[in-house]
Amino acid sequence: MTNDEMRFGTEILKQAEVLATFTEDAPRITRTYLSKEHRQAGDYLIGLMREAGMTADYDVMGNIVGRYEAGVPFAPVVMTGSHQDSVRNAGKYDGLFGILSPIACVKELNRQGKRLPYTLEIVGFGDEEGVRFGVTLIGSKAMAGNFDPAWLEKKDANGITMRDAINQFGGDADAWQSLDRRGDGHGEVVAFVESHIEQGPTLLDEGLAVGVVTAIAGATRMNVKVTGLAGHAGTVAMTKRQDALTAASEMVLYVERYCRDNENLVGTVGRIACLPGAINVIPQDVEFSVDVRSGSDSVRHSAIKQIRTEFTLIAERRNVKVDAQPFFELNAAPCDDALQKQFADAIAAQGIAPRYLPSGAGHDAMEFPKVCPIAMLFVRCGNGGISHHPSETMTAEDAEIATATLLHFFEHYQPPSFFADKAQRVDRS
Ligand SMILES: [Zn+2]
Repeated sequence: MTNDEMRFGTEILKQAEVLATFTEDAPRITRTYLSKEHRQAGDYLIGLMREAGMTADYDVMGNIVGRYEAGVPFAPVVMTGSHQDSVRNAGKYDGLFGILSPIACVKELNRQGKRLPYTLEIVGFGDEEGVRFGVTLIGSKAMAGNFDPAWLEKKDANGITMRDAINQFGGDADAWQSLDRRGDGHGEVVAFVESHIEQGPTLLDEGLAVGVVTAIAGATRMNVKVTGLAGHAGTVAMTKRQDALTAASEMVLYVERYCRDNENLVGTVGRIACLPGAINVIPQDVEFSVDVRSGSDSVRHSAIKQIRTEFTLIAERRNVKVDAQPFFELNAAPCDDALQKQFADAIAAQGIAPRYLPSGAGHDAMEFPKVCPIAMLFVRCGNGGISHHPSETMTAEDAEIATATLLHFFEHYQPPSFFADKAQRVDRS
């Protein structure tokens, strides 16, 4: 397919290039919540939404919200979207593709004069990555009723609270509850769907442009402290040592082995510190992190149990103490079976065999199961599947196929009949 033949791909990639210029530390891409660059990206996206035939504006927390009204009265809402913010030194497509691709769909529907049997809402969440205030998924948490108002007092590196930043942005921090979309009785949200780059190599390795997400992985994070006994590196015999680092090393390797040997499981030790940290002293205190993720909560729970048991055995054998404390737990968010099937049909309509795969990374969609069923479409990520990095890539062809898939989904999705009944009831009364 040449660039001229594409309906969506070339234009979306151009738009991603424009968005990449709204950055706090050029030539790198960094765009945090409620920054000047958030405003620039938001104004640009609102412009695209309006041009595509939507009404669009910021909400009280700085999320960018566009609406393409249904063609029928009393219609429910289907939400789609992703995040406008980025990590530090980010790529160009993480989050943004999930905003740009549905805008392209609406533009096409509007060009054809087509309305859907539901209102399509496209959201550019102000924050997902949590770079500025250390809280992730702020926008989607607010909409899914998972927002904790104590977070409004959290300060950024310059001592500015989230509350002040929201209000200075033009929002209204104390109106955060108004964003809650859990069954408000009006314009109910019946589905949340998100298109996103895969951020991994599965689709790339299998030569597929798109895939259906089965579940967003849950995670457990632990802090592990290993306590041994310091001693002179020259005088303490090897058999007499209580070396905290060699014990921790065995534990780290165990995490790797256990997660490698069990399906649907990944485990990472990403941080480790050793004291006293001297070349001629036997390590006494080691602290390290463990991050375990799985699309299945039961698989993850038994992994954590097994890992803690094994840590205790290693510590006993090596005559050190170990304390492994989980400090963060997030349940998996399964994608809705019926919506998965509809995405699979939409992929098949592009002449591609539907591939089902889990998401190891967190996404805005994972906040929504309390509101409505969720689904995700993954798009192939180039360069070995790298993301959260400047070398993150996507081809125009893949953007084209993914957007055509999304459009097919939107055109074929039928909202639950409950709403039709309700509309009839209201019409008769
Ligand atoms: Zn993302």
